Amino acid sequence: MNYQPTKAFAQQMDQQDKLSEFRDEFHIPLSNGKPSIYFCGNSLGAQPKSVETEIALQMENWRKLGVDGHFYGDTPWYSFHDKMAEKAAPVVGAKPHEVAIMNTLTVNLHLMMVTFYQPRPGKHKIMMEAGAFPSDQYAVESQVKFHGYDPEESIIELSPRDGEKLLRTEDIIEAINTHKDELALIMMGGINYYTGQVYDMAAIAEVGHKAGIYVGFDLAHIAGNVPVKLHDWDVDFAVWCTYKYMNSSPGGISGAFIHERFANNPDLPRFAGWWGHDKEERFLMEKGFKPVYGAEGWQLSNYPILLMAAHWASLQIFDKAGIDNLRAKSIEMTNYLEFLVNKINTEVKTDISIITPTDVNQRGCQLSLVFGQHGRKVFEMISEAGVICDWREPDVIRIAPVPLYNTFSEVLEFSEILKASLLKLEEALSAEVN
Ligand SMILES: *Cc1c(COP(=O)(O)O)cnc(C)c1O
Repeated sequence: MNYQPTKAFAQQMDQQDKLSEFRDEFHIPLSNGKPSIYFCGNSLGAQPKSVETEIALQMENWRKLGVDGHFYGDTPWYSFHDKMAEKAAPVVGAKPHEVAIMNTLTVNLHLMMVTFYQPRPGKHKIMMEAGAFPSDQYAVESQVKFHGYDPEESIIELSPRDGEKLLRTEDIIEAINTHKDELALIMMGGINYYTGQVYDMAAIAEVGHKAGIYVGFDLAHIAGNVPVKLHDWDVDFAVWCTYKYMNSSPGGISGAFIHERFANNPDLPRFAGWWGHDKEERFLMEKGFKPVYGAEGWQLSNYPILLMAAHWASLQIFDKAGIDNLRAKSIEMTNYLEFLVNKINTEVKTDISIITPTDVNQRGCQLSLVFGQHGRKVFEMISEAGVICDWREPDVIRIAPVPLYNTFSEVLEFSEILKASLLKLEEALSAEVN
């Protein structure tokens, strides 16, 4: 596309945008009393207006039906999960019975490792990317220790080559092959939260499986952002939160994927609870755990209906918009952002670089801008000017235009604010020198 740094161009893109009506379904967070340029959906998605209605509906069911709400009303709580899984599955390329909507992300990661991390002497290692999200690092480290191994020895972290910021797929594959006999599990992010790099999950799963290693992914930054094909890629398990690109409330309910080849295997190690027990027999309250077929067999507890109501509101929006349509718009918006940032680099004396891959297949919404100097100051300046995005130590500003509620005009406006801030900073710095 022939991008232009003009209002006319951005407005034309917004007019042609078939998804533009969805912005109106969200509350855009405010800055200085006005709608902000909210580019932080990678951290916490904006609130769908329908969340209030969906939660109110369940409050009413509870108020009017009490315990009967489990089986009566428009949305009986007992089977609420089924329709959630039905709508969540297409977002991650799964079959509905491969998806469980439950718990929170780190809890699910632990539950999956209980099943898929079965270390034994000589084959006890976990491979992950260096600089993974801290919660994932803590989860993996504590699992290794729980089994009596030493994290120093049992965790293999993959780092980019010297002088590079991104992992090369060929290097990941080579590392898997080098360590294949000692690896019990490969567990990586789908997108690295810091660089915004998408890993080649299909290739990693294939190579891992050839070597008899379980392969799982943390999709926190990819669910609702880039379409994935968990079933077809033959991934063993995946986990994701729903409060980032999926707009389902702070700390909201999360998701887990377990490939259907494990759907009917009561011998797999797992931590069990009554909501994972065979539905027909659940209320017989008898001894002896009999897992439900599919991912639901990993459920522990009675569903948190209010959190599920919030997620349900969001899933209906995804269903209407379609993840592939969202992705098509997202590619254009992020490309436009990249074009504008690169242009600023030619106009202002700055040292911004984009560490996120330039290849669209290796990135989602987010671009991570690295500042050689004064990044924190720039972040403060653009925040004051109405941009909500985030700062990651030591030198990164993450910018994520989200196709459901952001516009091309906002991308342009953001770039103008960024440029003005850089010019102001340049002026202030040269005044200091003189
Ligand atoms: C956001 C995020 C988390 C957060 O986990 P919670 O358990 O939901 O607090 C974990 N891992 C990754 C990769 C994340 O991006």
